[in-house]
Amino acid sequence: MAGRRIFSSSLLILLEGRYARWGRGICRFGTAAAIEEPITPPVQVNYTKLLIDGQFVDSASGKTFPTLDPRTGDVITHVAEGDAEDINRAVSAARKAFDEGPWPKMTPYERSQILYRFADLVEKHKDEIAALETWDSGKPYQQAAAAEVPMMTRLFQYYAGWADKIHGLTVPADGPYHVQVLHEPIGVAGQIIPWNFPLIMYTWKVGPALATGNTVVIKTAEQTPLSALYVSKLFHEAGLPEGVLNVISGYGPTAGAALASHMDVDKLAFTGSTDTGKIVLELAARSNLKPVTLELGGKSPFIICEDADIDHAVELAHFALFFNQGQCCCAGSRTFVHERVYDEFVEKAKARALKRVVGDPFRSGVEQGPQIDTEQFEKIMKYIKSGVESGATLEVGGERFGSKGYYIQPTVFSDVKDGMPIATDEIFGPVQSILKFKELDEVIQRANSTRYGLAAGVFTKSIDTANTLTRALRAGTVWINCYDVFDAAIPFGGFKMSGHGREKGIYSLQNYLQVKAVVTPLKNPAWL
Ligand code: ADP
Repeated sequence: MAGRRIFSSSLLILLEGRYARWGRGICRFGTAAAIEEPITPPVQVNYTKLLIDGQFVDSASGKTFPTLDPRTGDVITHVAEGDAEDINRAVSAARKAFDEGPWPKMTPYERSQILYRFADLVEKHKDEIAALETWDSGKPYQQAAAAEVPMMTRLFQYYAGWADKIHGLTVPADGPYHVQVLHEPIGVAGQIIPWNFPLIMYTWKVGPALATGNTVVIKTAEQTPLSALYVSKLFHEAGLPEGVLNVISGYGPTAGAALASHMDVDKLAFTGSTDTGKIVLELAARSNLKPVTLELGGKSPFIICEDADIDHAVELAHFALFFNQGQCCCAGSRTFVHERVYDEFVEKAKARALKRVVGDPFRSGVEQGPQIDTEQFEKIMKYIKSGVESGATLEVGGERFGSKGYYIQPTVFSDVKDGMPIATDEIFGPVQSILKFKELDEVIQRANSTRYGLAAGVFTKSIDTANTLTRALRAGTVWINCYDVFDAAIPFGGFKMSGHGREKGIYSLQNYLQVKAVVTPLKNPAWL
């Protein structure tokens, strides 16, 4: 089976082989006992205030909000609740650090050294960071510790490497002019991130912004404020000057909206739902027309052709959907299977879901923890109900798992038709929808019949089929015979209503750079 390499040095996420092994021989859906007695997280929460101008401070209003443990719904701790006034304070600090502070005036080499030191500190504290991430988000500790935190280190090393390699161009002009094109930082970057990959989203945003010499105000998701505060403290230990990176915990319509509409924020980067993406784009347009990058929702097709190795395809399709409790914007959430292999695929997909190990995410071998919160839990349960009501066949799952927290059984629907809500909407949960197809042209048309265009997967042995689908699918990423392979250098982003712009790789730098043309007359045109 391909994908046996797990968390390789290049930090691609190739988990499916491991998950297959974990799944075998462990009882169905884990054990309820694993959930009834939550394991005590091996970490303490030390940072709960807002990080403004290099200091942890209370919110201006003095308000706090609880962050909850998705395993139980219990309060982990209370966190300072930032709102418009705190965003003002943070933006002023970032503005000052950009306009007057040492950051943009440092040499690119000095900036790169700070980013490298930060990456080293993340590596040094990886166990606490992973534990905090699991506690606040419910994702399996092994996933956070073996994939996400190492990926964060790698990404910051990647951006540290870029920091002293950003330069402009000289261009020829039709006349006696010397023309330089400078690539300069934009200024104050406002960033709003979601709760499904708190640290990875932080990294995709903060990494390129700092590497290009900008200053940052980042608003974390209200469900998962803890890990960003912890790592941002490490940034200051690494030598980041005060005010360069400011972290605000708080809610979207207050703190988030204040950041998106702030007149002194020069650029906005957002990851979240398509509906909220529309709101922040409008706020940016109505305020100072700041440029906006958006990474939004998806309903990605995963196409399994008739020549596929079915066992491998089942495993990969399972991983594509169920990874991170199904809470991935690029989840392979429409599994299209060729009619000749459809029945076998459905049987095996069902058997695989039954073997999925659900339980306390701190327990070794657990593949699936709880969903993030009660709102998401209820939304997913509604979609499961709608799948049954609209006539899809519920092969397995469909219920709450255990009695506490936000766990949901791995759920598989077959006989899914294109118009059903479980085939059109982003469920963001552990619900696999399997659809049947007959012809390549037909599946291309159906796969593209969506408002989204974030990712797609193709499973085939035929190079011709792979090439045809690659060109025809309207998506920002196409994974051939693999899925969720991420790397620092691979750009990620969406077509259509999945967003604007690309993150990671060289493309992410452009989001944070201004282009300035400098034109100087040449005294002696003879030397043109
Ligand atoms: P979800 O529904 O999955 O939580 P959202 O798109 O609402 O996704 O949230 C992603 C991020 O956007 C979070 O940090 C959230 O606080 C923020 N957010 C939500 N609503 C707004 C808003 N009106 N303006 C700015 N940010 C918002």
